[in-house]
Amino acid sequence: MKKQTQCVHSGTSMDPATGGINTPIYTSSAYRYLDSDGPPYPRYFNTPNQEAVIQKLCVLEQAEDGILFSSGMAAISTAILSLVGAGDHVILQDELYGGTYALVTHQFERLGIRYSFVPKSVDAIEEAITAETKLILIETPTNPLLGIIDIEQVAELASKRSINTMIDNTFASPINQNPLKYGIDIVVHSGTKYIGGHSDICCGAVLTRKEIVEPIKLTAMDLGGSLNATTCALVERSLKTLHLRVTRQSENALAIASRLHEHDKIERVFYPGLPSHPDHRIAATQMSGFGGMVSFNLADSAGLSLDFLRRLELIVPALSLGGIESTICAPAQTSHKKMSQEARERIGVTDRLLRLSVGIEHHDDLLDDLFQALG
Ligand code: PLP
Repeated sequence: MKKQTQCVHSGTSMDPATGGINTPIYTSSAYRYLDSDGPPYPRYFNTPNQEAVIQKLCVLEQAEDGILFSSGMAAISTAILSLVGAGDHVILQDELYGGTYALVTHQFERLGIRYSFVPKSVDAIEEAITAETKLILIETPTNPLLGIIDIEQVAELASKRSINTMIDNTFASPINQNPLKYGIDIVVHSGTKYIGGHSDICCGAVLTRKEIVEPIKLTAMDLGGSLNATTCALVERSLKTLHLRVTRQSENALAIASRLHEHDKIERVFYPGLPSHPDHRIAATQMSGFGGMVSFNLADSAGLSLDFLRRLELIVPALSLGGIESTICAPAQTSHKKMSQEARERIGVTDRLLRLSVGIEHHDDLLDDLFQALG
């Protein structure tokens, strides 16, 4: 089946009692255990609504199995902590989601886990590998600068040395990029973004092979970050329109990115779909669409980014991303606030950088709003 069809049908089951065409919401947290060798329990990640979502996501990401979590960070932290322990070494890109950076800098030392943040390049990753390296975590496109790294090359490099690889695929979504097919071991998502897609759900997912999901599930049961049935049903409904939404968002983002640089108050536009993007060629190989995120630097002459944000009438300055409505934020004050100013400046997250999450509105209306706010 094509992705459009998978979004609608995979994992979704009819109500056996009534013939209703949506997966019923099974609210029970207690299930009969007699004559069953593994009754469902919400924190065991095996209730019917959790499984319906995971089946849909597995099909979309070409994964054998997965686990649905109550947030993206629950997915990321559980997956990392189940694969590494005291004495192990983890390599991460220095350009990655601020919450993941915070997890590493707040928790790893205490747990005896060593780590290296490296620039987003395969050579830099290779150089950082030690005999203790157990995990390489990448993000592409990166948050918030939309940088790209060659997924297949990272996977090859790691598999030769039996190092696990994990990718945060939130920005691309399963519609635009499927890293498992390039040899990556584990995909993680903040489902709060494109998967939920309406700015009203917080969830996360780990998608991988059967033999890797088992240890992660054991840790997940201990840490307990599961998702309730009602929210699972909302996620399942959201996934039915994932292809439609992400396709429109990607088209809109390309249209906006192509026009933004025309304005003299925009200094630089970051979008992997632009031929001028330094890694456009790699992006075109590993992505089927370039996604709905566009970042840009305001030129000095535009004044403070805060003034620009206040003048916007349609696009909402808001945290998070991936919703059907366009939102915008200044990463230095939001998603990357927990990074030191020095670390931020090093990777290019300056006070003039703005990150636009393009929605499903008409791109002309969005451009009109951006241009009127630029003045
Ligand atoms: N990964 C990326 C790329 C994100 O942008 C975010 C949140 O903004 C997360 C992970 C964390 O997800 P959550 O907020 O659902 O825990």
